[in-house]
Amino acid sequence: MKILVAVKRVIDYNVQIRVKEDGSGIVTDNVKMSTNPPDDNAIEEAVKIKESGKATEVVAVSVGDEKAQETVRKALAVGADRGILVKTEGIIEPLAVSKVLQKVVEKEKPDLVFMGKQAIDDDCNQTGQMLAALLNWPQATFASKIEVKDKLLLVTREVDEGLETIEVNVPAIVTCDLRLNEPRYASLPNIMKAKKKPIEQINASDLEVDTKPRIEQIKVEEPPKRKAGIKVASVEELVQKLKNEAKVI
Ligand code: AMP
Repeated sequence: MKILVAVKRVIDYNVQIRVKEDGSGIVTDNVKMSTNPPDDNAIEEAVKIKESGKATEVVAVSVGDEKAQETVRKALAVGADRGILVKTEGIIEPLAVSKVLQKVVEKEKPDLVFMGKQAIDDDCNQTGQMLAALLNWPQATFASKIEVKDKLLLVTREVDEGLETIEVNVPAIVTCDLRLNEPRYASLPNIMKAKKKPIEQINASDLEVDTKPRIEQIKVEEPPKRKAGIKVASVEELVQKLKNEAKVI
């Protein structure tokens, strides 16, 4: 079984996002970038499945500019066998990414595609679902547990009512939740070894996929600042303030 894992390079989750003064976007110069957090869970799960003997190869793929190579390299350092970088320029939207990934899937013929549930930069939560539609494969989204049973997957998902377990036939798309596992750290020897693992570079333009954005971003602005809260000494005081000051009861 071969597992393809999609990894996206995003602004690190610890970075305080700043809006550019002219409102044309957010500041990305000299800002720390990392792998999208749930994509780390996707790689971890694929590597664990390989370690359990149920998969033979884990391939990491990223769609982005030259620097996205670092994200692929990190996946190699935690256990992926080889990498693919599909080079694009400028903003690339979920539909374009899923069309690019469709081409990669057609070439690589994986049995499973693991992805993150959502990218923390655009918060779209679309790419996995769109890829499943384009390939006409079953999908299991928000996976918090995955069991591989031959050509069948048992996937537990967190839903509003609690936990739901579904069965999907392989080949399938699985989008991974942060609760799926605890991603390992890359050790120094593995970072060194990863430098020797191959990364194939492909130009998106050679895949005959239209990656032009469909959405025009008009303006980016910070949300209005929230007023500081207050502490009340008793329930009576709270009720009195809700009644007389906030006038909500
Ligand atoms: P999104 O639909 O943008 O919230 O992204 C969901 C998931 O799709 C991410 O967690 C990644 O696994 C994958 N993905 C999105 N964009 C890219 C990209 N440019 N390169 C690789 N994977 C991506």
